[in-house]
Amino acid sequence: MRSYFIAGNWKMHKTVAESVALAKELKDKLGSCKEKVLVAPAFTALAAVAEVLKGSSIMLGAQNMGPEEQGAHTGEVSVLMLKDLGVKAVILGHSERRHSYLESDELVNKKVLLALKHGLEPILCVGETLEEREGGKLEAVVGTQVKKGLAGVSAADLAKVTIAYEPVWAIGTGKTATPEDADAVHAFIRKEVAGLYGDAAAKALCIQYGGSVKADNAALLMGKPNIDGALVGGASLKAETFVPIASFR
Ligand code: PEP
Repeated sequence: MRSYFIAGNWKMHKTVAESVALAKELKDKLGSCKEKVLVAPAFTALAAVAEVLKGSSIMLGAQNMGPEEQGAHTGEVSVLMLKDLGVKAVILGHSERRHSYLESDELVNKKVLLALKHGLEPILCVGETLEEREGGKLEAVVGTQVKKGLAGVSAADLAKVTIAYEPVWAIGTGKTATPEDADAVHAFIRKEVAGLYGDAAAKALCIQYGGSVKADNAALLMGKPNIDGALVGGASLKAETFVPIASFR
């Protein structure tokens, strides 16, 4: 049976104690969840949450990482440090990183390749702004982010990559793309990936939708053929809102 990939991005929220409390609740409530579930706490809480999640099927993710293995990079956290804590996946190229911290496709790609080199699963985020969508540039923007983000990724490594389609105008705004609109963009992403890696690899690729996913729209979104999961921000901060999304079926 198809399993969906539901990831919670806790962003810059929660102290260590608050993160541990939420992780404990999720571990209890999602013990028998059919889906692949991941939580991405802040760097400061990774070690403590890793400890809580031991023995659970909930995966530990990070929200970002530095583009180098190690060295003089003040303030960065490296792939080796994440692995050391038990992190299995890393969110890369989130629109907040692209827009607030000016991360380029080239930088995001460098991180994707580094994550794969060290066996971390990258979640490569792509998505257009409202201005780009209204200006008819959706496919050009998303297509470029996909192609540049995946540059140099081998066919074998593609199987470890998840793409998260997150229209920037839907993140944290309460506005969600309609399931039909989101599915159409996912189909476009799959077509781009098919052009690079072939139909079978594109079909197998996991493409999450992100942007104001809530319990009441999760089933409709994931009912669409090209939507393989969800990357959840705001609704991942409480068990009462995240558990129903991860248990949408
Ligand atoms: C996100 O930050 O990736 C996100 C989708 O946020 P929200 O669910 O709050 O829109």
